[in-house]
Amino acid sequence: MSALAPYAAHEEQSRGRRHAEPKPAYRSEYQRDRDRIVHSTAFRRLVYKTQVFVNHEGDLYRTRLTHSLEVAQIARTVAGALRLNEELTEAICLAHDLGHTPFGHAGQDALNECMADFGGFEHNLQSLRVVDELEEHYADFNGLNLSFECREGILKHCSYKNAIALGDVGERFVNREQPGLEAQLANFADEIAYNNHDVEDGIRAGLISIEALAGVHLFAGYHGEVLALHPGLSGRRLVYEVLRRMINHLVTDLIDSSSARLRVAGVASIQQVRAQRAFLIGFSEETARLNQELKSFLREQLYRHYKVRRMTSKARRVVRELFDAFFADPGLMPDGHRATGTRREAVHGPAGRARAVADYIAGMTDRYAILEHRRLFDPAERT
Ligand code: MG
Repeated sequence: MSALAPYAAHEEQSRGRRHAEPKPAYRSEYQRDRDRIVHSTAFRRLVYKTQVFVNHEGDLYRTRLTHSLEVAQIARTVAGALRLNEELTEAICLAHDLGHTPFGHAGQDALNECMADFGGFEHNLQSLRVVDELEEHYADFNGLNLSFECREGILKHCSYKNAIALGDVGERFVNREQPGLEAQLANFADEIAYNNHDVEDGIRAGLISIEALAGVHLFAGYHGEVLALHPGLSGRRLVYEVLRRMINHLVTDLIDSSSARLRVAGVASIQQVRAQRAFLIGFSEETARLNQELKSFLREQLYRHYKVRRMTSKARRVVRELFDAFFADPGLMPDGHRATGTRREAVHGPAGRARAVADYIAGMTDRYAILEHRRLFDPAERT
C-alpha cells in the first residue's frame, strides 16, 4: 500500500475506543476492528439474510454476506487509489449491514412500524447497536469496542434526536460536519455493489430482461460495446461482460471525481475533511445521472415487481406477527432474550420491552424468522 494521504484516517490521530485497550502488537488498530467484525456473531448471520430475494429462493442470489464482501472489495480499490486507509474502509464496509433485519428492507420497514411508539427502528442505527451493545464477546464490556472512526462510518445517517442520544459518534449530525473519507467512500461502494448485483440477480430470477435494460443508458452503452466486440454473445457471459464494464465505469469515475474534489478543496487533514460543507467523495454529475437512472429502473422494474412485492408482503406479515406475539408475551422468547426484556422493561418501561423484542427479531436470519413464525403459529410445528 502506498503511504497514506494526509487527509486519510491515520490511526495515531484516532479518537480511540470507548474502553481503553493496549495497542495491538502486530496489527493496526483498524485491522483489529476488521478482525473483530469478521469474528462477530452478527457477521456470520449475514449469510442467511437477504437483500432483495429471500434466502431460500436460490443458492446463487446475493446474501448480505456476499454483498458486504463485494462492497468491501470495491471500496478497498477506491481507497487504495486515493491513498485512504484501506483497512478502516474494509472494516466499515464489512460492518455496514450488521444491523439488517431478516427479509431486507421489507423486514426493516415492518419493524420500524412496530416500533413507531418506542423510538422506531433503523437498520443503520442497529448496525452501530450491534457493535456497541449487542455482541457478547468480552468480559469487561458489551459490544466489540471498535474505534471511533469505524463506528462513525457505520452510522451513515441518523435523526437529530438519535444523534443527541448517541453522544460522540452522533456529534457530526448535530454540528453538520462530514465523516472521514473512508466512511464517505463506503456509502458509494455500497451503491455500486447493489445496483450492479441486483441487475444480475434480477435477470437470473427472470424478473427483468435485457430488452427492458435497453432504456438504461449505462447498461445500453456497454451492451452495445460488448456485442460489437463479441457478436452473438448471449446469456450470462454477455451479462457479466456488461456488468463488469459498468462497475469499472462507476469505480473509475468515483476515483477521478473524488481526486479532483480533494485537490480543489485542498484538505490536508481529517479535521479539514470533517469541516467541509459536503462530501468530497462522489461521482461526476454525468455519472451521478447515469447511476440515478439505473437506480430508478431497479426500483420500478425489480423492487416493485409483483413477485418481489408478494414476498415482501409475506415478510412484513411475519415480522409484524412475531413482534406482536413477543411484545404481548415476552415469555414466548428464549430465556436470554426474555431476561433482557425484563431487565430493560424495569428501567425503560414498555419501550424497554419493545427494544428487546426488536433486537431479538432484527438478529434473526430469514430462515430463522420463518421457523420462529411457524413455531409460534402452527400448532403442528414443534416449539
Ligand atoms: Mg449494503
